[in-house]
Amino acid sequence: MDQFFKGYPKRRKQDDFRLSLLMILMVGIFTLFACDIFPKSWEMSTNHPFKWEYSEWSLRWLQEHFDLRSEESRLDLPEKYKLVRRYILENRQNEAGTVFSFKKALHQLNFRQIESSKIKGKGWNVTAKRDDQWIWVDLLYSNPIIGTIALVIDDFGYRMDETTEKFLNIQTPMTYAVIPGNEFTKEVAGKLAAKGKEIIVHMPMEPYSATTDDEKHVLKTDDAHGNWRKLLKSAWSEVPGAIGMNNHQGSKATENPELMRVVMDFVKSKNAFFVDSRTSSKTLGEKIAKKQGVPTVAKTLFLDDPEDEISIREKFEKLAEMAKHKDFILAIGHEKPVTLSILKEEIPKLQAQGFVFVPVSEVVK
Ligand SMILES: [Zn+2]
Repeated sequence: MDQFFKGYPKRRKQDDFRLSLLMILMVGIFTLFACDIFPKSWEMSTNHPFKWEYSEWSLRWLQEHFDLRSEESRLDLPEKYKLVRRYILENRQNEAGTVFSFKKALHQLNFRQIESSKIKGKGWNVTAKRDDQWIWVDLLYSNPIIGTIALVIDDFGYRMDETTEKFLNIQTPMTYAVIPGNEFTKEVAGKLAAKGKEIIVHMPMEPYSATTDDEKHVLKTDDAHGNWRKLLKSAWSEVPGAIGMNNHQGSKATENPELMRVVMDFVKSKNAFFVDSRTSSKTLGEKIAKKQGVPTVAKTLFLDDPEDEISIREKFEKLAEMAKHKDFILAIGHEKPVTLSILKEEIPKLQAQGFVFVPVSEVVK
């Protein structure tokens, strides 16, 4: 027993020493890993094999996940981009959504400093960084865009018939302008909202010519400011889901600076945009909107004025030609059977040529 008691503390000291050594070693190894010292020094000497594989694997995964066709890349890029890929975006209708999801997926795969930019008419570029590695990915359209056409269709709310239904069922992105205070205003606005269409208030404004206007919400130049505000407020409440406004008629009203200032104040308070239908060459709509910081755009041409088939077809030819040379063009049409049937024929033809149709919110500035 004596021996045992004498030997015990001796053995305990030895054990403690060994245990302490083991602890120090474990803490040391843990610290090295935690501070990323091990992987860094090791990878530096072996040319980052883990990171390379991870990035390669990530891009392969993304390609499969987004069903992207890969294209040969011959890009002359700064040397920092270690991985360069070009993919083809087959579904152009939802390109912005795809780019957004692509970036989100990169983030989930631990990439950071993720940036995207539009390559005009060709697609999108995405760059990102993971650890010290930069990647460059081009997401390209299968056919390059040769022109952008924003379409607004005016005068919804007067009817709710077959023509209306067919306009509602057009899949091509466009903007629907609903006139407040009419028999079918609320019904049409509700159906458009349910289908996720872009809606704007088609605000009746005083013209020089027509005196037959029986609209309920007409902004007239000789009215009091308070009345303009009241009319704008009730018009807006009749078209739920609206994100902008354009003018119905209004050759006289849009030339009136005071009236236009009140309109833009109102539009601004709704965080909305203003589309100047340009029913007068002296309109102040776009100019005052810009001055007051309201996003705006002005009509390039009316599609169906005059209303006959031949001139509408001529307008389509004209707008395609113009769209090739401008950033975009804004065409305004009306809810008419003749406009509908020509739109249904011409849109697919133009899309096949490389023209793209967008709602007006995409071109306001
Ligand atoms: Zn109108």
